[in-house]
Amino acid sequence: MFTLSKYKIFLFGTEILREKSKPVTVFNKKLHALLDNLYHVLYERGNGAAIAAPQIGIAKRVIAIDYLGEKLELINPEILAKQGTSYEYEGCLSLPGFVGKVRRAETVSIRFRDRYGIEQTLTRSKEMARCIQHEIDHLEGILYTDLVEESFLIEEDTEQEKPLSFFQEITAIKNK
Ligand SMILES: [Zn+2]
Repeated sequence: MFTLSKYKIFLFGTEILREKSKPVTVFNKKLHALLDNLYHVLYERGNGAAIAAPQIGIAKRVIAIDYLGEKLELINPEILAKQGTSYEYEGCLSLPGFVGKVRRAETVSIRFRDRYGIEQTLTRSKEMARCIQHEIDHLEGILYTDLVEESFLIEEDTEQEKPLSFFQEITAIKNK
């Protein structure tokens, strides 16, 4: 039996996913608790690679990643440089069961703060670069369905195409 987290994942169509999140200014226990909660929710969904604070209803610039054997906590991340292009499928915990093909930079260099407020930089390529760009978009209120170039998403279970317009309607309903 699993215990339900007190945090739920907000789904596409929720207004907070369209907000621009606020920078973190205080690096205290409250921030650490937020990071712990993000990982808690992430691990509750066994298939999640990363989660951004707005996805649990908190409009702060905080991202928790545990992907490809690497754990990254990104506070106030900024992209410093992008290189190359990659065009691959990606999905989102806030739209379970679907993937869509999105063009992203192949390599990104970012600057961010860790949970203690220390500035860090790193460069990542391929899947991790894609993951980082997807999560930083969440802090800007951008969803990957905004960037899908094909006219459909793929439903993972059935491998069937579902029209993108359907998802765009969902995200437009509650947001001006
Ligand atoms: Zn997402």
